[in-house]
Amino acid sequence: MNRWLAGILDFAFPATCHVCDGKLAPHERFACSHCLSTLPRTGFHRRDLNPMEERLAGKVPFVRATGHFFYTRGSALSTLIQDMKYRRYPGIGEMLGRIVAEELFPSGFFSGIDLIVPVPMHFLKQARRGYNQTHHIANGISKAAGIPVSTALKASRSHKTQTSMTLQQRLDNTSGIFSLPYPGSLDNKGILLVDDVCTTGSTLISAASAILDNAPSAKISILTLGVTF
Ligand SMILES: [Zn+2]
Repeated sequence: MNRWLAGILDFAFPATCHVCDGKLAPHERFACSHCLSTLPRTGFHRRDLNPMEERLAGKVPFVRATGHFFYTRGSALSTLIQDMKYRRYPGIGEMLGRIVAEELFPSGFFSGIDLIVPVPMHFLKQARRGYNQTHHIANGISKAAGIPVSTALKASRSHKTQTSMTLQQRLDNTSGIFSLPYPGSLDNKGILLVDDVCTTGSTLISAASAILDNAPSAKISILTLGVTF
């Protein structure tokens, strides 16, 4: 179904929650307040050397990192993320990005951040899907935190799906796929690298490495919606 038709149908028939199928209140979109409030928060941003930072430590230099929700297969969060990525609901990314940023903001998580950089998608894949969901997550964070989004990081080639790979295989698979065509744009900047889910961290490590190879004075922090454990 095309987006316009979906929009008209959403208007004609009351929208339901993507998670529980309950009817949405007029101010709600994609998911009801109850389903959103019960997504399992990690609280990692309140901990020194949290488990996600331990996962990435020693692989790439970074200031701080967090995944905001625990991600498990078949969970409410996975339903929302699957719909965001594969069922043409990029607005879910913006909604979740905004919620995450609003919850992180009081802790000072965004202090020193000048630019939000979404992990890019290769343009052919993006052309097929019609959008890069990570960009929509970054837009939601941007609106809540008041920090601009930069698209300086590009994916110069596509990578294979990584579901059954080890960390080393994933690092080899993603190594060299990211590039910074105009490196000067990130010099001396505090960068918040954003992705949907952190599993092994290989994509984030490759993306952060590409930024630091080209802009060594950049300071990188990392934020994902979900994190697996
Ligand atoms: Zn619900």
